[in-house]
Amino acid sequence: MHLPDYKEAKKRNKSNVEEEKYELNDNLINIGLNKKYHIKTYGCQMNEHDTENIKAMLEQIGFTECEDQEKADLVILNTCSIRENAHNKAFGMLGRLKHQKEEINKNLIIGLCGCMAQEEKVVNDIMKKYKYVNFVFGTHNIHRLPYILNEAFKTKKQVIEVYSKEGNIIEGIPAKRANKYKAYVNIMYGCDKFCTYCIVPFTRGKQRSRESIDIIKEVNKLIKEGYQEVTLLGQNVNAYGKDFDYNYRMENLLEDVAKTNIPRIRFMTSHPWDFTDKMIDVIAKYDNIMPSIHLPVQSGSNKILKLMGRKYTKESYLELFDKIKTKIPRVTVSTDIIVGFPGETEEDFQETLDLVNYCKYDNAFTFIYSERDGTPACRLKEVIPMDVREDRLQRLNEVVNKYFLENNNKLLGEVLPVLVEGISDKKNIYYGYSDTNKLVNFTSDKELEFGDIVNVLITEIHTWSIDGRVK
Ligand code: SAM
Ligand code: SF4
Repeated sequence: MHLPDYKEAKKRNKSNVEEEKYELNDNLINIGLNKKYHIKTYGCQMNEHDTENIKAMLEQIGFTECEDQEKADLVILNTCSIRENAHNKAFGMLGRLKHQKEEINKNLIIGLCGCMAQEEKVVNDIMKKYKYVNFVFGTHNIHRLPYILNEAFKTKKQVIEVYSKEGNIIEGIPAKRANKYKAYVNIMYGCDKFCTYCIVPFTRGKQRSRESIDIIKEVNKLIKEGYQEVTLLGQNVNAYGKDFDYNYRMENLLEDVAKTNIPRIRFMTSHPWDFTDKMIDVIAKYDNIMPSIHLPVQSGSNKILKLMGRKYTKESYLELFDKIKTKIPRVTVSTDIIVGFPGETEEDFQETLDLVNYCKYDNAFTFIYSERDGTPACRLKEVIPMDVREDRLQRLNEVVNKYFLENNNKLLGEVLPVLVEGISDKKNIYYGYSDTNKLVNFTSDKELEFGDIVNVLITEIHTWSIDGRVK
């Protein structure tokens, strides 16, 4: 049994990260034969991509996917710990699964993985109070799933295998991708930034960048399979390569991926700290790097940014923002903002609103600060009452929404390139995203192929989407 340990998870050392190949023992190939699985995924794109890996591994060992959770023989919850409500949702689902096991299928196998599995308290609770959960595995050993399942089947005991120390990078884990035209490609794992509110450096371990040769190989394979778009994924992609002992960084990787000629490249998430001028130049130079940047600011107050450990100031953020806006033609910028961080006064919050009024973001993910056990911000004394946090979120949302609509209004009569992703049954209307990451619903006189990129004339505007017709 391997249990998570926060002290271990917090340690950072210089030890080299090796590359290992994913391997599957032949004797596991049929352990899921005639059994159905269902996975519930919470949280970010990292988790969504981990789920794609989990699905492919389960299918390698004989399982088939089933839409209806109640008909499944195996249910896995791929969890998120970023905020308390993500926790609550997963625990709520565990309660429902207990009922399913008691009332519908006594042989139901229940597994829990993802970021919550890396938390000491969660795992202790599962061992004491959720004995009906059959297995738990963490974010560092997803590739071990077939072996963990095998042990759970054989021993009929609860199997907990969570490593606090991240291991090597495992190449070659198969993926059952959710989308036929857009693919996630991990370029790095973990995060070394330790923003004081954030649990990710504990749950995802130290930063480990994948070798560019493996990334380019994966992108080339996706091109052959007909993919039109890749999103390069990491918690902090601009720091890509900082852990290498040679000089190869995000700007080099972006340029090499652009040279594969895949039609669309996106990347997320960017930390403003590591966003270099060279990166901006590369994004501006290549047409296949999409002019859409996610640049989380978190707060507009220097005092709060310092308490958050973000390592930039409002002024340096705005300087970067202006550079991006002037150097990358047609670029759209989105952001993340937290309200109600400990110590945030009304004046600090006003500074956040001022910054939003300056940046006029195209999109923003706004959050109420959520205390995460074990993070430094939890020890800060000036806790903001929940009603004040909620009030600020509402006021912030009113301002950000105003700019979504205002920015979209400028697109009326413009022609945007849109990747055709699907069609809504009811209205015969296609949908997809523009290069600038706007959701577009559109009509066409001719039947369109999914996966094509078409020019759409924008004819109507809403706050969260725009309408048009193929030109
Ligand atoms: N690595 C990204 C960055 O630095 O911007 C963010 C990754 S995190 C999964 C996504 C967002 O969740 C963060 O940008 C932050 O706004 C929000 N977040 C993280 N921890 C939070 C907390 N304790 N309470 C509220 N929001 C939080
Ligand atoms: Fe969390 Fe992002 Fe900060 Fe890393 S950079 S600690 S993932 S908010």
